[in-house]
Amino acid sequence: MEETKKPTILLVDDDDSIREIYSYAFRNANFNVLEAQDGLEGLEIATNKTPDVIFTGIVMPRMDGFTLMENLAKNVKTARIPVFISSHMGREEDRQKANKLGAKGFIVRDLVSPVEVVEEISRVLSKGGVYRIDFDSYVLDAPRLAQSLGLNNNFQCRECDEKMVLEIKLQDNSQCSMKAKLVCPKCGWETE
Ligand SMILES: [Zn+2]
Repeated sequence: MEETKKPTILLVDDDDSIREIYSYAFRNANFNVLEAQDGLEGLEIATNKTPDVIFTGIVMPRMDGFTLMENLAKNVKTARIPVFISSHMGREEDRQKANKLGAKGFIVRDLVSPVEVVEEISRVLSKGGVYRIDFDSYVLDAPRLAQSLGLNNNFQCRECDEKMVLEIKLQDNSQCSMKAKLVCPKCGWETE
């Protein structure tokens, strides 16, 4: 088994200097960094590259951060990507809206340093974290496993034929309990 590479974060903000600061901070913490200038570009990149996490501003041209979240939720490919809201003002009504839309975090930029933001996001990612692992479908009892899951011996997705990956999710803070299932990295179809 081979563990997947470093996590990928998508930074969405229309302010170049903000993207620059956070891009630097996340790269330093061993993240792959993708950048988008507004919600519309963010949605496009999220759909094509399915990052592990998204950190988005609120007010942006063309599409704001909340509309981005609503659109991400509509697509099976992007619905499960954790989103952190980056707020400049820290307005209470924005915080409530972020919560309602299922944001994993609401970060008021003026109150925390970029390094603290990286720590916060890394912490949440590794806790409720999802790890996707490629596996060798020719080992041991793999054919029997595939059969019991209703898949062919190549472990191809029933919906789109992409090879399924093993997804492991940590269940609690102690990180001792884990739940595993097979998911399609392309369309999101999964075994029970
Ligand atoms: Zn699929």
